Amino acid sequence: MDKNSLKQYQIWFITGSQHLYGEETLRQVGIHSQQIVDSWNRSGEIALDIVWKPTVKTQSEITEVLQAANGDPACAGIICWMHTFSPAKMWINGLKNLQKPMLHLNTQANRDIPWSTIDMDFMNLNQAAHGDREFGYICTRLGIRRKVVNGYYDTARVRAVVDVWGRAAAAWLDSQTMKVARIGDNMRDVAVTEGNKVDAQIQFGYTVDGFGVGDVLKYISSVSESQISGLVEEYLDLYTVPDRSERAMHSIREAARQEIGIRSFLEAGGYTAFTTTFENLYGLEQLPGLAAQRLMAEGYGFGAEGDWKTAALLRTMKRMAVGRTGGVSFMEDYTYHFEPGRECVLGAHMLEVCPSIASGKPSLEVHPLGIGGKADPARLIFATAPGEAINATMVEFGSKFRLVVNELQITEPKEALPRLPVARTLWVPKPNLAEGARRWIEAGGAHHSVNAPALTTEFMEDYARMTDVEFVVIR
Ligand code: MN
Repeated sequence: MDKNSLKQYQIWFITGSQHLYGEETLRQVGIHSQQIVDSWNRSGEIALDIVWKPTVKTQSEITEVLQAANGDPACAGIICWMHTFSPAKMWINGLKNLQKPMLHLNTQANRDIPWSTIDMDFMNLNQAAHGDREFGYICTRLGIRRKVVNGYYDTARVRAVVDVWGRAAAAWLDSQTMKVARIGDNMRDVAVTEGNKVDAQIQFGYTVDGFGVGDVLKYISSVSESQISGLVEEYLDLYTVPDRSERAMHSIREAARQEIGIRSFLEAGGYTAFTTTFENLYGLEQLPGLAAQRLMAEGYGFGAEGDWKTAALLRTMKRMAVGRTGGVSFMEDYTYHFEPGRECVLGAHMLEVCPSIASGKPSLEVHPLGIGGKADPARLIFATAPGEAINATMVEFGSKFRLVVNELQITEPKEALPRLPVARTLWVPKPNLAEGARRWIEAGGAHHSVNAPALTTEFMEDYARMTDVEFVVIR
């Protein structure tokens, strides 16, 4: 997978018109739309590659370009702009079969009305104010889910809207072919991590495959001692390792073996997300906590206790966040602080929090784990930096999925936590703990979530629209 760029994904820029205006006007329409595409690509502010398409003027040209967009595996979505008037009956056949996300751009090639020179030639060419209304009508009539943005194209605000939407579209495209590996089943008796995998594939595109731990054990047991030594060198380079006793280093080497083995297993099957469960560790010396942490940091989705919905959502949000600062992690609301005026949530997990959200150098340590009945596992311990973030959860109610997002303020603890041997973060839900938690719980939001300092609500809103999933935002 390409961890650092989304340039392999394209957004097609399609400009609509008609033959009424004559060749000279159509020539200028083409020049203007190319100018928009070039300026956006040059800006460096849009993660995906914007690809200009020739102006479409007839029903057959429209249908042809939309079908081509459907069929092109690199095309994550289309932007439509009606620089001039493009009678919308011409769009019906193409739009009825559109399978890619759409952003409807309502802009103009010129920012200002040229008051002293404006004439009917100018009026003929610059008609988006009504051309885009004709297009908007037919989209609404056809029930096309799309994002609409109004504004002058050459502004940071409009570029940011396109960037966010494009990232959501890239994540949506990734989800169409995503494969999630479940290593072991769901944690027994837990409700929220269950769900209908057939419905999930229909709605989000991804598939979920079950494996026994033995399927992964084959890969873990074939890892060589020299591979382990190489990876442990990397650990010593990247992390603080306070205890290098024989006992600690043995556990760290086992964690390295698991990481290499699980990565090989995932690569061999083309999996980009996975789950584990502490109830099924047969043949494993320790819970693979460090492996989950480091694979998340590489861009893999992960869910603990068999939570495949959160694993898939994490992978999707990781793709949206490629190249952005702040990180994205598996998370669990763990415990509350109810001190008046400082109410907040301590978020953590048994081990599996992604170091992409760490502030400073993580500490690699080995401590007992009171669950799972295995040897003491290695884990990265760290805190997080203050700032804005979101928590997102995908839940299922038999007949439908719901995406719940809570905006948060990450905060720093007032005291040290010297006896807490796991990665942790502290946040104040918006609008406050009492209201945020109440609304999350009423919406059926899970105890597992994806914590994303790198993303905002707008990403999730765009993704919810693309996948036609119910969306609840708490802020
Ligand atoms: Mn959990």
